[in-house]
Amino acid sequence: MTAEALSYRSTRGQAAPVGLDAALDAGLAPDGGLYVPERMPTLPAACWQAPGSLPEVATRTLAPFFAGSRLAAELPAICRAALDLPIRLQTLRSGRYEVLELTHGPTAAFKDFGARFLAESLARLDRAGAIPRTILVATSGDTGAAVAAAFAERSGFRVVILYPAGGVSARQAHQLGAYAPWAQAFAVAGRFDDCQALVKRALADRALTERWRLGSANSISLGRLLPQVAYYAWAALAYRARHHAPAPIAVPTGNLGNALAAVWARALGAPIARIHLACNANDVLPQYFAGAPYRPRASRNTLANAMDVGAPSNFERLVALLGEPRAVEHRLSSASTGDAEIETTIRRVLAEEDYLICPHTACAFAQVPALAGGDPRQPWLIVATADPAKFETIVEPVLGRKVPVPPALAAVLARPSHAAPLAADYEALIAALACDRDAG
Ligand SMILES: *Cc1c(COP(=O)(O)O)cnc(C)c1O
Repeated sequence: MTAEALSYRSTRGQAAPVGLDAALDAGLAPDGGLYVPERMPTLPAACWQAPGSLPEVATRTLAPFFAGSRLAAELPAICRAALDLPIRLQTLRSGRYEVLELTHGPTAAFKDFGARFLAESLARLDRAGAIPRTILVATSGDTGAAVAAAFAERSGFRVVILYPAGGVSARQAHQLGAYAPWAQAFAVAGRFDDCQALVKRALADRALTERWRLGSANSISLGRLLPQVAYYAWAALAYRARHHAPAPIAVPTGNLGNALAAVWARALGAPIARIHLACNANDVLPQYFAGAPYRPRASRNTLANAMDVGAPSNFERLVALLGEPRAVEHRLSSASTGDAEIETTIRRVLAEEDYLICPHTACAFAQVPALAGGDPRQPWLIVATADPAKFETIVEPVLGRKVPVPPALAAVLARPSHAAPLAADYEALIAALACDRDAG
């Protein structure tokens, strides 16, 4: 089958459209916008009949996005290598929830799927021989570890991670520093916003970008978004096989990368009903969907720290697809949950469902009861974004008991870990990039 090549345009419209390979490589478009397909593909109904493993469903559903790419013929192999992770749709005791567990990868958060797919794609696109590429990431915790794990043991890449010193959990910090020599972790004397500003400046710096062949892996990267579309396709098919209806999905949301993938999957034709964006106290999206103007602002710290986002970076992609996205018309909704309710929800879900959840996943569990139409034949599909053991300092005191550490996480925590301190200063970053990757 020869499909017509799909090109990708910038959401800001000031940059020339490019093919998938250039969009994957660049991350951000030169005009500062995000790449979106020139037209959103839709898959014929036959594609939504057969179930399959995640790599199989991913190969089917992502094929139109790869039309014209140098990687098109390799897509099945990329999906097999990157997405052969355990994934489960877990029915809870009450029968009111189906939980999409995206927490069984090497770093125990959903970001493993995207990071591994991006790494596999970039490794195959990259011409051998040149100096190694440096993947520079700012992280509030989970992204950095997923990216470090995904690129570890690959020659031709090094990962440089900037995280806010004292701003991530102890276990997250340990994970971030545990992938030397492939990944170097820097604990920045500042907040997540400072880390992100440093990365943005570096990626816009021509000389620096060329010197280190800098690339990014943040949540706006198409290489992370596409595999997330695939797991929603997989989950919606699994849900329909059980409930004979399209799935209503609730997604813990910060930068809107994960939830946007659900919106793209639905546009592609996946059997998905309504999509609910579950936010923490950072309520830009709930305010917007309640009818207020879109008003990004500084983020606040909450117990669900990976969702502490005041300006969701993928919002531009939502607008690019839907026009002004409106709640009712586009079957979208959003709500906000404060820290106190995150705590009571973690307790309630354990008591009622005998099920452990992380503070992010708790936002979705807190909000769904008020949304449900009361039809027990149509449970909500709730996305579990991280294993609670990553946030033990929050979850254990709330529950008054230990939470078990999954084997993959235990293996990383058993390794040595090292992070170097870094001033929140551009010259300091330039010097840090020049450090030898084996110097530790
Ligand atoms: C990153 C993250 C989120 C938020 O996902 P977005 O794609 O930024 O909306 C939620 N929960 C966990 C555990 C995360 O790591």
